[in-house]
Amino acid sequence: MFMAKKKVNPLKLLSSVKVVLVGTTHPGNIGATARAMKNMGILNLALVNPKEFPSDEAIYRSKSAKDVLEKAKVYKNLHDAVSDCELVIGTSARGRKVPWPVLSPKESANEVAIHSLNNKVAIVFGREDRGLTNTELGLCNLHVHIPSDPEYSSLNLSQAVQILVYEIRVAIIEDHKDQDYWDVELATNEQTEHLINHMDELMKEIEFYDIENPRKLLLRVRRFFKRSGIDVMETNIFRGLFAAIQKKLK
Ligand code: SAH
Repeated sequence: MFMAKKKVNPLKLLSSVKVVLVGTTHPGNIGATARAMKNMGILNLALVNPKEFPSDEAIYRSKSAKDVLEKAKVYKNLHDAVSDCELVIGTSARGRKVPWPVLSPKESANEVAIHSLNNKVAIVFGREDRGLTNTELGLCNLHVHIPSDPEYSSLNLSQAVQILVYEIRVAIIEDHKDQDYWDVELATNEQTEHLINHMDELMKEIEFYDIENPRKLLLRVRRFFKRSGIDVMETNIFRGLFAAIQKKLK
């Protein structure tokens, strides 16, 4: 039995994701981060205590992602920057004293893809010289480590951002690729009921069936509309048609 699902536009889910940079020292890294994000369709940037912002160097390094910088929100602390998020993922270039669930970029991107449907998600990046503090990492639900060489494990900030936003984009698109985006909201149960009643009204007016003996006709009509996964616009088309026929009959 076919039943149209409520379809989602996977690219819209990317707007549930925000990148948070904590205590960034080099404005060039902020600009390069904006570019890395926009290349992957992730546009929400939050900055916690940046050393220098706004900055010409950041704009220069962002190339065509100046709009991401202009929209960026600045916060005094990480707590405020992530308070509206249901899932917060912290990044770490090395192991920490207090173990926390640590995922790979791909695993964390899968978590993001699942949560992006109904929730806001933040990915948090640390300072160039010292990363995130233990207190900041403690605000996060999960930690992610990019499996780099232990001899030199710390990537450039914007390059670490690039890897994670890329994985998130791929995970979100993979998760939803067999669900084509549907352009109209599905009809509610009430709207479908109104449509079925309207059709019944019309069928009676044209004496389409014997009112004393409707047999299973109404049930079959009902079943047809219920299983069709009809959307709001389709409902309106049918109701418009029934109304036009009723008007001609008068
Ligand atoms: N010396 C710092 C490294 C900071 S690198 C430290 O030991 O923590 C700046 C930021 O880039 C990090 O806070 C993290 O957000 C990100 N980053 C760099 N390398 C990473 C890696 N291998 N895995 C995850 N994030 C990384």
